[in-house]
Amino acid sequence: MTITTKGHELSTAVEQVVQLFFDVHSDVAAESAVEDGRAVTSVTNDGAAGRGSWPMPEGADKKALSNSIKKATLLACKEISDMPTPWGISTGIRPAKLARLLLDGGMTAAETVRKLRDEYWIEPERARLCLEVAEKEKGIIAMAGEKAVSLYVGIPFCPTRCAYCSFISQALTHNNKFLLPYVDACEREIRRTGELAAELGLKPVTAYFGGGTPTAIPAELLERLIKTLKASFDMSDLRELTVEAGRPDTLTPEMMTMLRENGVRRISINPQTMHQSTLDAIGRRHSPEDVERAFALARREGMEIINADLILGLPGEDVNMLAETLNRITALGPEAITVHTMYLKRAARLRDDFEKLRFARNVNEMMELCRRRMEAYGAEPYYMYKQKNTLGNLENVGFAKPGSECLYNVYIMEEVHSILAMGGGASTKLVRGDRIERVFNPKEAGDYVNRIDEILEKKQFIKEFLG
Ligand code: SF4
Repeated sequence: MTITTKGHELSTAVEQVVQLFFDVHSDVAAESAVEDGRAVTSVTNDGAAGRGSWPMPEGADKKALSNSIKKATLLACKEISDMPTPWGISTGIRPAKLARLLLDGGMTAAETVRKLRDEYWIEPERARLCLEVAEKEKGIIAMAGEKAVSLYVGIPFCPTRCAYCSFISQALTHNNKFLLPYVDACEREIRRTGELAAELGLKPVTAYFGGGTPTAIPAELLERLIKTLKASFDMSDLRELTVEAGRPDTLTPEMMTMLRENGVRRISINPQTMHQSTLDAIGRRHSPEDVERAFALARREGMEIINADLILGLPGEDVNMLAETLNRITALGPEAITVHTMYLKRAARLRDDFEKLRFARNVNEMMELCRRRMEAYGAEPYYMYKQKNTLGNLENVGFAKPGSECLYNVYIMEEVHSILAMGGGASTKLVRGDRIERVFNPKEAGDYVNRIDEILEKKQFIKEFLG
């Protein structure tokens, strides 16, 4: 991909739109210019050429300039590609935040939808989805007070590594030597973060153990981390403690009892699909029956909220297979279902443009089915995000029955308060007014263990930024 610009320096705006249509590694070339009060983009790919142009508004600021450039680029790409663009020129990963900010700025629901549709070229159905999510989020955001923070603890281990994984996780079988040192180091980081939070008077409202698969490590080690977390922070405002138990094969009776005894009332059991052939193809090493057994066990132990993750567009799957998966999963009665679309990373291996287009349309149809089925199931969309480089520019949506929403998901997505993150691959996000700073921990477990002293020193930044 080659991007050249003339008369402006917003090459990222051009690139973000071109990437909605073409692979970043393809020979596509885009030239963008601002001339005679118009943004003009020419795009060439594989012998085809397209041109788009859009007027610049009077006295345009940087944002308006960027939007005009994006529109010209989108029009140019559309001349040579049929790739659907349901999100128009909205290339950020948080479209619902855009809607929420418009609402907060005093717009009515109808004005917000109109603006998303007319100014960002978002499909009407998606504009309404943004509004629905933004309105739901407003209530959740209002629950958290001034000193609220959320906590995240990363456990970067899994029983095996799934073929499509884009997270930081290592198959536990090969990394046992890191396990104990990892838990020791993570406890140190939790305690240090707790000290800083206490000095600043910060009170966690949600805590989330993610990864990886936290339940992949032995129950007694996970228990140590949960207990350390609870002892290190003022948990008097805590409303939610979630543990990702993503792989059902990790949920033993011992693990479930430990979670219950330590106050975990929300877990995520992630089938992704209920088709054995797909699970085998993506290296999940568990069966649909394991998912059903894990649900039964969790319910027996009194787990109040169970989320189930699904992925749309897994290799070989079509809409009928998804319908079967939805039947089996809703029969288990999860309070929340999170629907992800497959990343381009995998889809990029599709052979040609026709195949990519078919894939994108297939997944779009799957998303529509999910929305209809969730509505019938009584689960409403409450958070959403887009991932960069998904084919067809599709979204991920969290659905939940009213009162069963994962508050942590909303807080991290809407960037309304700080997320203090601990563990390998964790990224702390500090929010102060309009300013946001991120501090990243090393991704690999071994690296995290070896650099723990340096990580603890860097924690001081929390106090400098929020103090
Ligand atoms: S369970 Fe999740 S984090 Fe673990 S390997 Fe699979 S996709 Fe990655």
